[in-house]
Amino acid sequence: MEIHTELIYHYPWLPSLNSVLSSISSQDPLEFIKKTFETYPFLEIRERLLRLFRAAFENLEQIIEYQADKLNVHCYLILKILLYILDNRAITNRIANLYSKIAYNELINEGDAYIYDIFMDLNLDIKYYNIPIQYGINITKDQEEILQTNFRIYVFDYLKLTASLRDEYRRLVNNSLSDGYVFIQKRNLIRLLQEYVRQKLIIKQEEDKATLDNFKNEILKLEKFKEIYDIISSEWSLKEEEFEYTFEMDFKSGKELSGSYPPCVKSTLKKAQEGQNLTHTERLYIVWFLNSLNYPEDKIVNIFSTLPDFNREKTTYQVRYAKKKGYIPYSCQSLKSYNLCMAKKYKDELCLEGYFSRKYDAQREIKHPLSYVRIKQYRTSHKQKNSDKQIN
Ligand code: SF4
Repeated sequence: MEIHTELIYHYPWLPSLNSVLSSISSQDPLEFIKKTFETYPFLEIRERLLRLFRAAFENLEQIIEYQADKLNVHCYLILKILLYILDNRAITNRIANLYSKIAYNELINEGDAYIYDIFMDLNLDIKYYNIPIQYGINITKDQEEILQTNFRIYVFDYLKLTASLRDEYRRLVNNSLSDGYVFIQKRNLIRLLQEYVRQKLIIKQEEDKATLDNFKNEILKLEKFKEIYDIISSEWSLKEEEFEYTFEMDFKSGKELSGSYPPCVKSTLKKAQEGQNLTHTERLYIVWFLNSLNYPEDKIVNIFSTLPDFNREKTTYQVRYAKKKGYIPYSCQSLKSYNLCMAKKYKDELCLEGYFSRKYDAQREIKHPLSYVRIKQYRTSHKQKNSDKQIN
């Protein structure tokens, strides 16, 4: 099937790029970049790429201008080269999250015929019906919603595309299936494409450091390319310091508790900070934990803003609801069963060896992350009082 060139301009991650624009995609990367800078205005290329990186560094969910022209294809390929040589997981995750959200917003406005073409191009088996087919009824309280769609997707393709998505409603058991095809609404189908786009930017072939360094040295000899690379690198370094600072400030605001967080919390927060996806359990754990410490609602919501499927309205509602219900974070035993205990990885003494209880006159193990915070806080204040006494 021949795909419209405009679709490739719009969505340069489509496999047909290799056939429709083979003169671009098959070039040696150095030659490709040189020719791009000869053919297109450098300032325009630089502007488009920096706009993307700056938006990703700011954790924005959209960019104002997305231009679906031939230069867009060049910029996408240069973007991939930049991510490869930057070799920084946090940057890659941020860019992948942003880029996939841009793709979602573009795709959601496409007609059904184009969506069908895109799935065909990706070699994914979907069926399209001109007249929507009914496949169920959703009953919530006293309201009934008839479920209907124009699309069905082959079950194995559905499983492949949803493999890294954690939402309960996407599990196969919660979806209607007939003759090996899953009924799926258009917006959910496009959400699967969003994840495909994200994965495409994240997945990187394992390469040894020497190969990467050689390639980097060669490509940075191209002055204009190096200029873009240097701007991105220095802006990221500044941003990184700011993250550290904000991290400290945020967690210190109010109760000065950040230094007292147990490894299981630190590790999950770090994952979120790097833009990695969190499981449903990890999300609940962080919300319940921070709510228990009366962490401000907007700051909890902001922690999730780096995640690929972040939705501010939905997250705010969930954080507020959890607070209202007064949910208590999981115990250490539950966290261990979810493989979320990070005591060994962080070699944390308090988690591994426990603490001496004066009440029981015995060594006791940590049973709850909130006890961890309490004990750490007690020790800190005790140390402070002792040093105050010595000064006086
Ligand atoms: S022992 Fe408890 S507090 Fe410590 S890392 Fe494991 S789950 Fe978290």
